[in-house]
Amino acid sequence: MSDSQDLKNFTENALVEWLDQYGAAPYRAGQILRWIYQRGAGSFSQMTDLSKDFRRSLSEQLVISNLNTEQVQASEDGSRKYLFRLKDGHHVESVLIPERDHWTLCISSQVGCAMGCAFCLTGRMGWVRNLEPSEIVNQVCAVRNDLSNPSALTNIVFMGMGEPLANYSSVIQAIRTLVGPNGLQFSSRRVTLSTAGLASKLDDLGQAVTVNLAVSLNAADNETRNKLMPINRTYPIEMLLSACRRFPLPSRRMITFEYVLIAGVNDRPADAEHLAKLLRPLRAKINLIPFNPYEGCDFEKPSENAILTFQKVLMDRHYTAIVRHSKGVDIGAACGQLGSRA
Ligand code: SAH
Ligand code: SF4
Repeated sequence: MSDSQDLKNFTENALVEWLDQYGAAPYRAGQILRWIYQRGAGSFSQMTDLSKDFRRSLSEQLVISNLNTEQVQASEDGSRKYLFRLKDGHHVESVLIPERDHWTLCISSQVGCAMGCAFCLTGRMGWVRNLEPSEIVNQVCAVRNDLSNPSALTNIVFMGMGEPLANYSSVIQAIRTLVGPNGLQFSSRRVTLSTAGLASKLDDLGQAVTVNLAVSLNAADNETRNKLMPINRTYPIEMLLSACRRFPLPSRRMITFEYVLIAGVNDRPADAEHLAKLLRPLRAKINLIPFNPYEGCDFEKPSENAILTFQKVLMDRHYTAIVRHSKGVDIGAACGQLGSRA
């Protein structure tokens, strides 16, 4: 079976073409995909509206992959961290976050990350490898299967391990499966991609899929951002923000700018004023994320007073600025804490 292809790595078009060699009609592709994504079929034998011979030849050449859940840790705040083992022994993590009336799942796009942001534990691991489309989608399938009410999982955020735009084609394919009519049927209004700012890929992203955009800005001037996020040397703030201005937004939607607040680094009221000016030409809202500490990192979280002052400067300038105290700090599941082992 080792040379079998993973059905979950097929786009619908590729599956149509692949099936054509068996003389199967194009509509069979959608039928098979609905079996696996909507009815949770784990084997071809369950697909009772396909002939027995057809099912047998499919199962000889295709596998329906799953992720191996190695550990689930529950936080006292209700969030859960899933540790998945991949087929080559590497690991990725997803974090399930409780909201008032639904769940949000934070998923990973790479093992490790090449971006090397100074405040991020995943960044410290370096880049290990890209996830395949099936490995991205299977995080969602595995968690959904684990829920007593799977339909309560309505929101997906690409904010786990990795930089999604550095694994562009797999991430696009995964998003299409997440929102597709023959896929997992998430609303595209409830899928958010967070990027460190690969400006060159933002135009392509906006053309390829409809998705919410979050941008990890984290500093309001290039000098500070260069120190925190090496990618800023390639795509400085002006270049990133002009790509954001071109990004096609459905009506009334905004781009979320994430700003990790680090004591003495980017948390002065003057930084907030500068940020407010920078974002003025954009339809922007701001998520302030107080830095989550981890072992071996010298940065510190600002005082509560500094956080609130920063927020007030933005609110006084009519921005929606929300302080996001990360969930799951006690289980190492908070923003920037993922990925202690690859
Ligand atoms: N690579 C993408 C998505 C994953 S990181 C990106 O950078 O946007 C998800 C978010 O966690 C980013 O906004 C990042 O700035 C934030 N983050 C990383 N390390 C953090 C830390 N130690 N404390 C708080 N937020 C952190
Ligand atoms: Fe990678 Fe995002 Fe962490 Fe930066 S913040 S190292 S881009 S995961």
